[in-house]
Amino acid sequence: MDALAPQLPSHKDILSRIFGYDSFRGDQEVIIRHVIDGGDALVLMPTGGGKSLCYQIPAMCRPGVAVIVSPLIALMQDQVTALKQLGVKAASLNSSLPYSEILATERAMRSGELEMIYVAPEKLLTENFLNLLDQCDLALFAIDEAHCVSQWGHDFRPEYLKLSLLKERFPWVPRIALTATADGPTRQDIKERLHLSDARAFVAGFDRPNIRYRIGLKAAPKKQLTDLLEREHSGQSGIIYCMSRNKVDEIAQSLCEKGFNALPYHAGLGKDIRFNNQDRFLKDDAVIMVATVAFGMGIDKPDVRFVIHLDLPKSLEAYYQETGRAGRDGLPAEAWMIYSMNDVARLYHMASQSDAPEAQKRIENRKLEALLGFCETTRCRRQVLLEYFDDNPIEPCGNCDTCLNPVESFDGTEAAQKALSTVYRTGQIFGSAHVIDILLGAKTERIEKLRHDQLSTFGIGTEYPKQEWRSIFRQLVALGLLKVDMEGHGSFQLGAECRPVLRGEKPVLLRRDPQKKTRAALREHYKKSFGPAATIDDPKDEALFQALRARRLELAKDQGVPPYVIFNDKTLLEMVMARPIDLSDMADIPGVGKRKLERYAGIFLEVINENRS
Ligand code: ADP
Ligand code: ZN
Repeated sequence: MDALAPQLPSHKDILSRIFGYDSFRGDQEVIIRHVIDGGDALVLMPTGGGKSLCYQIPAMCRPGVAVIVSPLIALMQDQVTALKQLGVKAASLNSSLPYSEILATERAMRSGELEMIYVAPEKLLTENFLNLLDQCDLALFAIDEAHCVSQWGHDFRPEYLKLSLLKERFPWVPRIALTATADGPTRQDIKERLHLSDARAFVAGFDRPNIRYRIGLKAAPKKQLTDLLEREHSGQSGIIYCMSRNKVDEIAQSLCEKGFNALPYHAGLGKDIRFNNQDRFLKDDAVIMVATVAFGMGIDKPDVRFVIHLDLPKSLEAYYQETGRAGRDGLPAEAWMIYSMNDVARLYHMASQSDAPEAQKRIENRKLEALLGFCETTRCRRQVLLEYFDDNPIEPCGNCDTCLNPVESFDGTEAAQKALSTVYRTGQIFGSAHVIDILLGAKTERIEKLRHDQLSTFGIGTEYPKQEWRSIFRQLVALGLLKVDMEGHGSFQLGAECRPVLRGEKPVLLRRDPQKKTRAALREHYKKSFGPAATIDDPKDEALFQALRARRLELAKDQGVPPYVIFNDKTLLEMVMARPIDLSDMADIPGVGKRKLERYAGIFLEVINENRS
């Protein structure tokens, strides 16, 4: 390199000048320095942890172009748009681009003008592209969503397997693989299949402290849903997950009728509709996406304020991943779920129908049990979740429903005995409705026909109302004392653990369904945990925040980009709290880098001045 070549900037310099942040988070700095020095890295960090900077900053600190492999075009475009807003020379290559643009990008790669190129794995692996890389100076390879290489997890992508050739063909170029998927087998697969066994592994804790977990019972789901949206999430963006396509359509429609800005997303919709709906979710404020699990992979939107499950997810892994799409900006967000015994029965039924080998089925069953145990726990949800992922133990979090509303427990030994013996006496072929009718002594047609009013347990459970019995039965399943019949009618069978309970040798502790906590108490909690910027109380602040968001939306629409690439909510909230007066105040706001200062600070200062009182 000649002496006149520009000196490459330092990583700290880039963090503040380009990204407008003043400190690194967690392991970011160590990772960045390791990669700048030419080391390989495997980075496991939860969603929202700040993985992108781990390769974007080294990309700018090392000479040459950085190649970033990403599985989805939408994801790449989002990243490129955001980088361009920061004044970084980045581009993506995919087959949908016009030829002239492809040529220009290739030229910029060869000349060393481009800093980052985003490509899909299938494109990267073409001989043409590899030849092009031979002609370029390469800063690094970043392999995003690296769990796609593993069949163990979700989202397996066969093309990812071939990425191992990068090491053989470009052994001198550092590689950094990143994922938010935690579990051990996936991690092992990534190491082996991408030839990263010698890479340094950086494993961050998996806690997402800004997400509040709440799980409740399904009673009147539509009403529960609209109550929640109206009371706690009005004007916010979020995702609502449903089991089936039909249900997605139904919920989206019913929300629209009630005046919400809701859109459906599932694999049964045409490609254009899906693309459009996703685009509106990214680019408009306050859109609610009602979706099957087909939606979400690669959705980088940072200001998703809630993720709702109207049906149980497949496993705790899926739950963690889906809820993880909330609150990537670090501001308070909510994961809210309601479920019923029917959901549980349906999942067991699905598991029983699969053609998977026995060993696999046993794994699936264990996963279901863990999920149900999590739903029915009387402990801190976060503790249970993190324990499942073998994360470091934590204190009760104070930000989940069981912490906010400590669950009252009671000695349920007798109730359990009554329930179990009723199941036993009726031949283990009935589900909760009929068994509860017997316990309550209801004279239903079925009971009379089967002469179940003759049973010794008929009418012995009147001390609990029906609702409470449902809860007791769910908990008995969660505790392994009852099993839900695999053949799908949801009938109960006695579990292996039930003998000592029936004999009175083992007590059973059950939870009472909790009362609601007031909103004021919740807000207090938020302030304590996230500082004053976390929630807005003052109507003047709220008005300014909304005015800033409206201005941002106009700017975004003019450019056809998502609003958050201009400034994210957190940055706007910081402006609300700081009320900057001039450009130098603005430069101190986290998230305002040099380029954005030049481009946008004046415009937002104007809004702040108009709202000064
Ligand atoms: P991930 O890819 O791990 O889900 P991102 O890279 O998208 O996370 O980062 C999540 C959010 O955190 C983004 O809005 C990003 O700008 C912000 N962020 C990342 N690093 C920092 C930092 N050091 N200081 C402040 N904000 C950061
Ligand atoms: Zn908790």
